[in-house]
Amino acid sequence: MRKIVFFCIPAHGHTNPTLGVVRELVARGHEVWYYSYNMMREKIESAGATFISCDDYDIEHKLSAKDATRVGKDLAFSTKILVDTTLALDDKVCKEMAELKPDCIVADSMAIWGKAVALKLGIPFVSSTTTFAFNQHSARIMKQSFNDLFKMLFAVPKTSKQIKRLKDKGYPIKNILDIIGNDHNTHTVVYTSAQFQPSAETFSEKYAFVGPSIRPATDKIEKNRDKLIYISMGTVNNDMLPFYKSCISALANTNYQVIMSVGNLVSVESLGNLPENILIDSHVDQIAVLEKADVFVSHCGMNSVSESLYFEVPLVMLPQTSEQKGVAERVSELCAGIKIDKSDGNSVLNAINKLLSDSTYKENAKKIAEGFKNSLGANGAADKIIKVCNEA
Ligand code: UDP
Repeated sequence: MRKIVFFCIPAHGHTNPTLGVVRELVARGHEVWYYSYNMMREKIESAGATFISCDDYDIEHKLSAKDATRVGKDLAFSTKILVDTTLALDDKVCKEMAELKPDCIVADSMAIWGKAVALKLGIPFVSSTTTFAFNQHSARIMKQSFNDLFKMLFAVPKTSKQIKRLKDKGYPIKNILDIIGNDHNTHTVVYTSAQFQPSAETFSEKYAFVGPSIRPATDKIEKNRDKLIYISMGTVNNDMLPFYKSCISALANTNYQVIMSVGNLVSVESLGNLPENILIDSHVDQIAVLEKADVFVSHCGMNSVSESLYFEVPLVMLPQTSEQKGVAERVSELCAGIKIDKSDGNSVLNAINKLLSDSTYKENAKKIAEGFKNSLGANGAADKIIKVCNEA
């Protein structure tokens, strides 16, 4: 029996892929502790881990609205927040790790406090990456992110003050790059297939591309027309009322059945009386919808795209962030979707019609799905973690 400790940030997209791995480790008789935030407690506990709340040590929720917008954009400021969080957790986590003596720490690539504490206490470590793994080769597909990387490298000197705070507390960290991002020497689990990951062959043998983890559907969706179109802009930046309205008017007079998930920031009532072929909800069982869908109009969050392709559903893509642009770029490169630049209903409808009239897109989605299904999955991730425990 091994003792494994997970760390994650409070984001469903970063937590969900790890849950199957937790389940698998627990089923094999290992013990799992999971440091996360109260909003994730239920799903983490139901996967079989002991949940440990980090809410009292959270720095980000205490920020002013203005400062909150700097997180993720301003590297020096983001580093300060990450270092503040690491130091706030330092006493608690170091004490608990000393008592628990885990065989391995598994931390999301953004929960840097997990890697920092593993380095400080000499505990074997596995990085958990829910987006594409990043190096100078895969950066080619993430042009925007490459600019970000550039900006980041120039900002690195500014982070030295923060790194010194970590060093003063006994963390053996020379610079910010030791704890953020992907590097060749760190054991890393990536939740996509080697086929879908750009330039997978350029990553070291320490990388395991285990494929996406697709949760089972809990709902049943009735298909009542020949073609079902699903629209969702994810769970975060989904406050897009004009876009939803424009899609409704463009799709109202078609033969398509449409299901649209609009999130909690837009009220379903504000979309007015709906045509008979369009159903709107603040949240749907996306897996159940994708099992039946023919096209997914998506913001290209990594999870949404993986789920769509897993069910061989080609995409109309409206990426919003640089990470989503990178994902959309990869789907375009593999011809499993169409990226549109204008977010109006008519552009969406034209792209839907094109995807449905040219079977190549569906065939390419199917090829990617095969790569996902041939990946090692949660089993492979668990194997990797146990191997790291055994090598120590
Ligand atoms: N999701 C869902 N129902 C919805 C909208 C989203 O189940 O109505 C799930 C979806 O299946 C995916 C996650 O929420 O697993 C969204 O993650 P993604 O990385 O695509 O985007 P984010 O919300 O993080 O921008």
